[in-house]
Amino acid sequence: MMAPSHAASGALAGAAAAALLAPAVSGCALFDLAAGVLVGAGAALLPDLDHPTSTASRSQGPVTGVVHRAVAGASRLAWAATRTGRDDGGRDGDGVHRHLSHTPLVAVAVGAGVWLAGGWWPVLLVAVWFAVDLGLRGLAGCVPGGWRWTRSWPAVSLVSAALAGLLVWGGVSASFVGALVAVGMIVHSLGDAFTRAGVPLLWPVVHRGRRWWMVRAPLTFATGDGWQETAVRWACLAGTVPVALMTL
Ligand SMILES: [Zn+2]
Repeated sequence: MMAPSHAASGALAGAAAAALLAPAVSGCALFDLAAGVLVGAGAALLPDLDHPTSTASRSQGPVTGVVHRAVAGASRLAWAATRTGRDDGGRDGDGVHRHLSHTPLVAVAVGAGVWLAGGWWPVLLVAVWFAVDLGLRGLAGCVPGGWRWTRSWPAVSLVSAALAGLLVWGGVSASFVGALVAVGMIVHSLGDAFTRAGVPLLWPVVHRGRRWWMVRAPLTFATGDGWQETAVRWACLAGTVPVALMTL
């Protein structure tokens, strides 16, 4: 799926996580809900750091360009080290796009890493800023015509920094942000399972002779602006409203 659709599904999942988890981790429902929607939407763009032209890989210019190369390199290594003779490495045959960063295991590991490292507030602030920045960019694509201001790197960076500062100051915890990162990344992979290429949700478990078995939903559709993906996007956005009201 495309970035706006992933962001919409991440916003819904983040709002649901806020409704379910927030009473246990924070005292302010409004901050928890804002963090859930924005961090969830942004985290749902992270797995595509394995693609050079994704929103996440281009968001911070050369900095995220380096992150993309690191993610791609790690994916190539993991694929080469764990592939069976029947794994073909996906569309490009190199085990990069839609491989390591699209596994639930890595989503949980990244979320746990944010939880642990986020115990030091500057790390939590940067993690929330990066996720909110991606969330705004992704959700902007859902608005017909887009939010023009989100095309300005300084504008979206500054607004994200202000929001991140507010959320961390408001007491949004590292454990909650870590959970949102894991949930957002998993929701991304589940969304990609509705496209024809599928995603390796079972890795590293071997299934039918393949460790990188590409799981596909019974009904799949082409990535892009087809009516199916548009319907999924709007259903997620519409569903976010009642779920958000449950939090408040
Ligand atoms: Zn993807």
